[in-house]
Amino acid sequence: MQEENVRTYLEKKLDKKRIAHSVGTANVASTLADKHNADTQKAYLAGLLHDIAKGICGDELDRLLNTYGIVADDTEQQNPELLHGRLGAAMVRDELGIADEDILNAIRWHTTGRAGMSLLEKIIYLADLIEPTRNFEGICDIRALSEDDIDVAMCAALTQVMDFVRRKGFALHPNSLMAYNDCIKGGKTQFETPTQ
Ligand code: FE
Ligand code: FE
Repeated sequence: MQEENVRTYLEKKLDKKRIAHSVGTANVASTLADKHNADTQKAYLAGLLHDIAKGICGDELDRLLNTYGIVADDTEQQNPELLHGRLGAAMVRDELGIADEDILNAIRWHTTGRAGMSLLEKIIYLADLIEPTRNFEGICDIRALSEDDIDVAMCAALTQVMDFVRRKGFALHPNSLMAYNDCIKGGKTQFETPTQ
């Protein structure tokens, strides 16, 4: 996979702001992969491509979901935005020929998380949340935790996301709840907040 092909693909699909977010995610993902002994190239590529289907809506979304045989569940019907992970994975498989299941799953599950996430899935989930263009209360803690302990960071991140979803009045996807339950099963909720 030529990096140039991927760049051209990104430029065709995303606006400048989303490209900046994608490059930021790729850079952070690669750094985290290096720290936690994951594949840095896969992390970078998954980071670049994770939001490739973001912003697709209306008739175009319906057409593509139909093309790839993706059926929205109840929560996705309430909030179609959630579908960009599943759709993005199908698009990069079909349009870029990426067949690596680890990369495809990292793209697929970055919107909701799921129980039993792989290391790469966790890295992309976190990198998406903490890349440099992001800013929210508590981000410094999650950035520090991501370097330190991926599972503790995931727990903190999922808590943050669940709070956000609740405040906004959105429906929480069952997979996000299962990702959270999976985290706390590992006893990763009790952590010391790193000092800044
Ligand atoms: Fe996304
Ligand atoms: Fe993103």
